[in-house]
Amino acid sequence: MTYATGLLCTICGKTHPYRDDLMTCPDCKEQGILDVRYDYQRMSEVVNRAYFQQNTLRHMLRYQPLMTIASYDAQTTLQVGWTPLYRSTSLSKELGLPHLYFKDEGVNPTASLKDRASLVACLKAIEGGHRTICCSSTGNAASSLAGNAAKLNLNSVIFVPGRSPLGKQAQMLAFGADVIPVDADYNTTYETSKQFIDAYGWYNRNAAINPHLVEGKKTVALEIAEQLDFQPIHAVFVSVGDGCTIYGVYKGFFDLWNLGLIEYIPQIYGVQSSGCAPFVEAYQDDRELRPVAESTLADSIAVGVPRNPVKGMWAVTKSNGRYLAVSDEDILAAQREMAATEGLFCEPAGATGYAGLKQALKQGWIDRDDRVVVIATGNGLKDTKTFLAHANPRSAIDPDQLHRHMQADVPFETILQDIDRRGESS
Ligand SMILES: *Cc1c(COP(=O)(O)O)cnc(C)c1O
Ligand SMILES: [Zn+2]
Repeated sequence: MTYATGLLCTICGKTHPYRDDLMTCPDCKEQGILDVRYDYQRMSEVVNRAYFQQNTLRHMLRYQPLMTIASYDAQTTLQVGWTPLYRSTSLSKELGLPHLYFKDEGVNPTASLKDRASLVACLKAIEGGHRTICCSSTGNAASSLAGNAAKLNLNSVIFVPGRSPLGKQAQMLAFGADVIPVDADYNTTYETSKQFIDAYGWYNRNAAINPHLVEGKKTVALEIAEQLDFQPIHAVFVSVGDGCTIYGVYKGFFDLWNLGLIEYIPQIYGVQSSGCAPFVEAYQDDRELRPVAESTLADSIAVGVPRNPVKGMWAVTKSNGRYLAVSDEDILAAQREMAATEGLFCEPAGATGYAGLKQALKQGWIDRDDRVVVIATGNGLKDTKTFLAHANPRSAIDPDQLHRHMQADVPFETILQDIDRRGESS
């Protein structure tokens, strides 16, 4: 049972009658990415304040009537969603922003927000009678597909261009995916995966193409709104690669606004690394996106040719938000700050939204009293190498030497300084 009525083409603007298996606009072909449209009138008869108050399921499937999937027993899937929304205790004081919240998507089963899309993809695959599901990705889309497919007893095939962080590679293999490294760039790898999908009749989990995936990702916004008791939220910060996640964030609030559950849609701030910022450049120059180099250490958002340019731009323009870029140094600093002061260890792309908030504050775009949410999209354990390369860990110290340092009247700080001085001179 779904309240979906149509599929709106983001290119030609035509709305096609809803069909489970229509992936792209028949007129615009592969460019014609579709957006699911709902009958909010009918949906609101079921989905209202009482629906949420009575719902005890701590899982993204609590939002089933707002998506395109059938009803499932949540016990049969990984426990995706209902992640914590932390009220900031330290950074809020430092920034002078009392109403600052962090949504920790790193505690999803495979440790990123991508689980919300992958679970929906797996369920749609099952509904369509598919046994195998496929995507091309270097990172979290792949590892989360592999994990969710494993739990639901589906085969997963993953086409990987080049190298991805070790944590993500390990996940794909551990979850038993068929991983196929392709000796080519992302575009060629993507085309190859598409040909295999067509040839073998597999289900397609390429996020931009498959309109159901944004419907999964939007549950992050539904949760944020619900966890804040549907009070007004002024701004939401999220990192952007292909543009699917940010549109999911917008779509969740759009749904709730249409259902009369929130007064207005928050301003959505899309944050990219200045080393790879096709959305930011297009937004600033008010033009179409152009391909750019992928020069950032935040691998999850190193996307030079975003697959979802229209939806990614809509999220910002329709919400009166902004696109902004931050440097890789800002991202690393944000990563350290979030971990050391809020206990939230994110992969670089997971800390990028927070780096964006700091910049927005400097620019005066955010008021002190605003209620602001930062989405931490992925866990730091996925990519420890990038973190450690900039963390200057101490090398091992001879225990006898340590003992010689240790005297009751020498403060511990002095010992640490001494150790670090020796480390530098050696
Ligand atoms: C995929 C991803 C993003 C960006 O999502 P897009 O849909 O590509 O814009 C941000 N952070 C993390 C951790 C991701 O895995
Ligand atoms: Zn079209």
